Amino acid sequence: MKSRIQNPKPKIVVVGAGPSGASLAIRLLRENFRVVLIEREKFPRHKLCGEFISPECLAHFRELGVLDEMQAAGGERITETVFYAPDGKSVRVPSKWFNNNESGALSLSRAEMDFRLLEKAKAVGVEVLEEHSAVNLLSEKDKICGVKLRAKDGAIKEVLADLLIDATGRAGILGKMMSRKDAKAQS
Ligand SMILES: Cc1cc2nc3c(=O)[nH]c(=O)nc-3n(C[C@H](O)[C@H](O)[C@H](O)COP(=O)(O)OP(=O)(O)OC[C@H]3O[C@@H](n4cnc5c(N)ncnc54)[C@H](O)[C@@H]3O)c2cc1C
Repeated sequence: MKSRIQNPKPKIVVVGAGPSGASLAIRLLRENFRVVLIEREKFPRHKLCGEFISPECLAHFRELGVLDEMQAAGGERITETVFYAPDGKSVRVPSKWFNNNESGALSLSRAEMDFRLLEKAKAVGVEVLEEHSAVNLLSEKDKICGVKLRAKDGAIKEVLADLLIDATGRAGILGKMMSRKDAKAQS
């Protein structure tokens, strides 16, 4: 592939810079891949969320090197979760039951959490393209080889990839593009 000939490190393109995409991008970069992370929004951006970060995530944040940043951004520790039944009875679940050696869960604005992860990705060397939407897949001899992007100003850009990862969340944008391509090829 063209991108491999110019640079021997495999290039991985991750589309979607939510918590999955940004975390994965950081981990892949550390594994010595070239990583491009593509996001249609400009961060920080608001997103509807309960903003409860469960205890297991704190160990993950520590590994990614963002735990201190999350707390500095206003993250509040949550030591227990209480579930209420309609009759008023309740069940208390201490966060320490999750036994992750961290003290509690965290409550933090989603805009802040995603922004801190994206900033970390940039800091470790991930190439980040914000305000770029994936609009189509690129293929060569029936193999997916990259993604076509549209920037906010309407400019079109093509990014080649040795591996393309769909981290667009529930929308599953790349998966849908792939299904459309398959359906077209079969018709
Ligand atoms: C109402 C609500 C409340 C929730 N509360 C909680 C909670 O309290 N705690 C919890 O842990 N989870 C909560 N969740 C679940 C949580 O939001 C998801 O699990 C999480 O967002 C999944 O992360 P992700 O990175 O996979 O996807 P997303 O966060 O959806 O990230 C996908 C990213 O892809 C980008 N994208 C999409 N299409 C394109 C494209 N074509 N080109 C480029 N970029 C694109 C989007 O802009 C987005 O930034 C809640 C969900 C909802 C709906």
